[in-house]
Amino acid sequence: MDYGIGGRTAIVCAASQGLGKGCAMALANEGVNVVINARGAEALSATADEIRRKTGVNVVTVEADITSREGRDKLLAACPSPDILVNNAGGPPIGDFRDWDEAAWQKAVNDNMVTPIMLIRSVVDGMIARKFGRIVNITSRSVKAPLAHLGLSNGARAGLTGFVAGLARQVAHHNVVINNLLPGPFLTNRQADGIRKLAAKAGQDYETFLAARVAENPAGRFGTPEEFGKACAFLCSMDAGFIIGQNLVIDGGSVNVTM
Ligand code: NAP
Repeated sequence: MDYGIGGRTAIVCAASQGLGKGCAMALANEGVNVVINARGAEALSATADEIRRKTGVNVVTVEADITSREGRDKLLAACPSPDILVNNAGGPPIGDFRDWDEAAWQKAVNDNMVTPIMLIRSVVDGMIARKFGRIVNITSRSVKAPLAHLGLSNGARAGLTGFVAGLARQVAHHNVVINNLLPGPFLTNRQADGIRKLAAKAGQDYETFLAARVAENPAGRFGTPEEFGKACAFLCSMDAGFIIGQNLVIDGGSVNVTM
């Protein structure tokens, strides 16, 4: 299947590993040149080399904290007119709602709501002028089904989702397509860290706790960044032009709802 996006350019934020890397690799497999970002230089450079080696596309790396204005400016200076933007950042910490003071909430809202909105604001008018744009925001299944230990995520990402629902419909007639991907459990480093903490809290060892989480998923497994990335690439394809402002849950069926 030809996605019709070969030769386009994508910014993929927070992409040296995990879900962001999965998206960058899947887009590169469709012939999209990618500008990838993370804070740590070493992993970022290794990922860029791997994408170049496997796909042959142009890969630019931008070492920056995407949650800071300076970081976003640096990224946009390297790629002021992307055809595709994949918004991603590290997620907020797990915990109890009593743990989260005003500063914790300000940070969660900045990192997981204001940051993607500022990036969209910077690139969307160029996409409108060029009559092509694809924006995918990596959010979380917690937007659809709240997870008590992820209250910061439940709240901040719901704010992004509300904004995107309105904007997506405002720009759709310019062939600018904005959607959200809602990951459930993918065994990335972040997920493994979270499971380690929850296992410790439950007084269980990591392996036992992880096996129970895997067993309770209807698919009987966790997802892979590769399959997550392929869904992202499809939402960035020419064929996705009529999919507007949607929230696609990719979770092996763990959110138990009819629609
Ligand atoms: P991960 O494996 O820990 O990877 C995070 C990536 O983001 C790394 O490349 C990291 O590199 C980069 N990053 C983190 N903070 C950054 C920042 N401020 N600026 C630029 N780059 C940054 O995480 P993941 O599991 O892929 O998760 C990605 C997002 O999906 C998170 O928001 C997470 O909460 C959400 N999510 C994940 C799951 C899951 O099951 N994995 C489920 C629901 C939601 P550096 O540290 O070098 O910057």
